[in-house]
Amino acid sequence: MAGSSAEVSMHSDPGGASSAHPAPAFDTWQWLQACHETWQATLAPDEVGGRLRRSRLARLIDTAQRDSPLYARRSPGAHALHDFAPITRAELMQQFDDWATDRRITRRAAEAFVADARCVADAWLGRYLLWTSLGTSGPPGLFVQDAASLAAYDAIDALRLRAADPAQAALGLWGLGRRFAYVGAIDDHHARHASIERLRRVVPAAWAPQVEMFSAREPLPRLAAQLQALQPGVLIADPGCASALARLQLQGALHLRLDELWLAGEPLAAAQRELLHSAFGGTLRHSYGASEFHTIAFECAHGRLHLNADWVILEAVDEHHHPVPDGALSHTALLTNLANLTQPLLRCELCDRIRYVPEPCPCGSTLPVIEVQGRSGTH
Ligand SMILES: [Zn+2]
Repeated sequence: MAGSSAEVSMHSDPGGASSAHPAPAFDTWQWLQACHETWQATLAPDEVGGRLRRSRLARLIDTAQRDSPLYARRSPGAHALHDFAPITRAELMQQFDDWATDRRITRRAAEAFVADARCVADAWLGRYLLWTSLGTSGPPGLFVQDAASLAAYDAIDALRLRAADPAQAALGLWGLGRRFAYVGAIDDHHARHASIERLRRVVPAAWAPQVEMFSAREPLPRLAAQLQALQPGVLIADPGCASALARLQLQGALHLRLDELWLAGEPLAAAQRELLHSAFGGTLRHSYGASEFHTIAFECAHGRLHLNADWVILEAVDEHHHPVPDGALSHTALLTNLANLTQPLLRCELCDRIRYVPEPCPCGSTLPVIEVQGRSGTH
């Protein structure tokens, strides 16, 4: 949800006016470097992507061992990924003050910051973007994004997530005068809300499309009426909310004419995809992400989810954390974020069941194809 432009107006504004404090500074050099590397890895996933993955992993392991007391204590002497024992979000939160590589990052300070909804997307500690998870699969999490991780998310967003149709550049997708509606959590520091707010701050106004924000907590009939009045060209929502709106549309109680539907967050079930297509038609853009990494996988023009394997490592494992073979459904998944050196994330359990699809994708990309089948329910 980063990488391009957005002028966001708050449709409902429970937190009052946005803070006057600046967002984390946009790091042009990091952004250019991340875009260049991501483009090269898109063209050659195995060779360039593999080389980047190995070098980023080595740097991550080195940094975590040297500067994160949590990892140094938990896995002393670890020098390869599998030397690190899998970790849960709950454990990371319990040992939050020892997790990051910047000793100013404490749970007390982070919780004090996110307690004020007015400072969404303000620079925290002068440089970081801080966001929260909703806690649907465990305790709410506090995630610190540094300039390097924001640059990686921006690059993925611009070059992969919004580029399923190569005829449309990322800025074109945001900036062709279309009207966007975002439905989600808008009264706190939730990841997607914080990301859109950040865009509003860092992108020059001349490039900015209009994004109206609606709370997913609104009663459905009221939300539908507001969307009906706005008539957005693009709706950004999670699959559950979009499905509820699709049922209203099929009942004749809603009349949206969407060019595109952007879905993120939850896995998308096949039945949901059919429902959304029959209700709204148009182009459906789906991605799979988490608070731990903004866009783990993106959907190509053939409707397959491709893993951003140069920026993340996602292990499909059984209940004992042993790897499952390609083609088999995992019990859970372990995520390693190769972009963030400030809050290192190595083998964090996501509780999603995933499957690596062995067959090549007709789109031609050799970035791995995964299927995601939702939470395993163990946490
Ligand atoms: Zn594909």
